[in-house]
Amino acid sequence: MAVSQDTISKIKAMPVSSILTACGVELKRVGREFVTQCLWHNDKNPSLTISDDKGFVFCHVCQEHNDAIGYVQKKYGITFRDACERIASNHNFTCQFTDENSEQYQQKKLELLKLREVVESQQERFRSSLKDYPEAINFIQSRRIEPSVSREFTLGYDASQRRLTIPIHNHLGQLVGFTARAITDDIKPKYKNSENNPIFNKSDLVFNEYKASEFIRENDECVFVEGHLDVVSLWQHGVKHAVALQGTASPSESVLRRLLSKTRKFVLCMDADAGGRSAVAKFLDSVQGLTLKGELDVKIATLPDGYDPDSFVQEGNDINSLILNAPSWLDWFLANWLNELDFNDKLKIQNVESQIKSLFSRISSPALRAHYYDKASVRLAQNKQSVAAEIAKGFHDSVQVPEVISGWIKPSAADTRRMVEKRLLRIYLHIPSYRFVLEPLAENLVFPETIWLWKRIQELQEICSEDILLNSLKAVVSVSEPAYISKVRSILTPSFSVENDELSIMHIEDILMEDQKNKGNLN
Ligand SMILES: [Zn+2]
Repeated sequence: MAVSQDTISKIKAMPVSSILTACGVELKRVGREFVTQCLWHNDKNPSLTISDDKGFVFCHVCQEHNDAIGYVQKKYGITFRDACERIASNHNFTCQFTDENSEQYQQKKLELLKLREVVESQQERFRSSLKDYPEAINFIQSRRIEPSVSREFTLGYDASQRRLTIPIHNHLGQLVGFTARAITDDIKPKYKNSENNPIFNKSDLVFNEYKASEFIRENDECVFVEGHLDVVSLWQHGVKHAVALQGTASPSESVLRRLLSKTRKFVLCMDADAGGRSAVAKFLDSVQGLTLKGELDVKIATLPDGYDPDSFVQEGNDINSLILNAPSWLDWFLANWLNELDFNDKLKIQNVESQIKSLFSRISSPALRAHYYDKASVRLAQNKQSVAAEIAKGFHDSVQVPEVISGWIKPSAADTRRMVEKRLLRIYLHIPSYRFVLEPLAENLVFPETIWLWKRIQELQEICSEDILLNSLKAVVSVSEPAYISKVRSILTPSFSVENDELSIMHIEDILMEDQKNKGNLN
């Protein structure tokens, strides 16, 4: 018997904080949210934010994203059903269950069990065939897969089809099916997957997800490649946070939800051919909502023409630095478009112009948007002044960006002050030794976003130790009003080094004290 939808909806409509409080969890209020210790990692400080508005709990440190029921399950180590019952009893209502036909339920369970048994016995057969057929061993050796890695991935051999079998596990580590690769070129198709069935649902499977999980968290990054053997090869070469989508170019919603709970950084490292490029485009298309909002950071690692990740590492090339230096997807798009440009073809230029505009105009963060408009116009200007100036003019009609082509324009007093206020908070957060100097100056902040952040810092300081402040603050900011997130994000994770010299501090002091009389006029 399952918990009824009515009961689940009722629990989901309740404030998360009241459910946690009823379980004896101590919450501390920070702005509109609450914080408490995280249950999902060894947390000595309050890193878990509880948002009643959004109905979730979120840990910035381990990225756990869950709801009240999930929290109660974790706290007591109990099932979903038991957690619902406990919440209902704490709040004096009855937990209702659906009248599921138990015979039907048993039948379904039996069917799943049978499917599991089938793949398990197939796997046993494939594993034992591997050592009986020299052609299979030869193929593995020709791919330079080490015996220990072949064992780790439990590769096998399907002698009837002459295929190397690569077992596929779901995100819980259960064997659910196979991908099989032909060992000679005359066997078509090259790759063959298990048929979709109740345990093998291609769109919900990511090859190597289970094993890669801890490495994805550890690296705070997930690398996507096209081929299963690319994953195996990268693993062998120490890149253990790589996965491959199972027979699709774009991750499904459930796959995204699972992976985003581990990291917000993806690197796409597809084959350097037409297929790979189209895979990148499809992938980017499917996550664009998240990337434009700044909720997911995607980078594109481009291999030299004709290579796939496997052949690249086999030749002794450094895949780590390729991944590390991968440009963001926006830079990748920009470079692709501009590389294709023929500066004598006005129609093409206009086409590229509108592509750039239509993409960049949807970037949520105004700072990032301005940055990319800037970048595009500068890149165009390097090629041909007159055309670029025309295009740049087009940009300025639709958005407000600094005039790039005709040179530096002095920022307004309000812009300077905003910059300085942000610098103050940045130094305050990242260089604790300056805090005593900056604290009195912070009383003079005038912008809503800087004042907002300063209040949160002060609240957190009462409950946090110095070194953990930044992570707790990130947790609070990540669930705050979108308007504030985009304005203060760069303060929390500066993409450039934090200025710590005395001159910077003096400048902050100058601007903040000097402009005090103009306070009312700025915003
Ligand atoms: Zn955590």
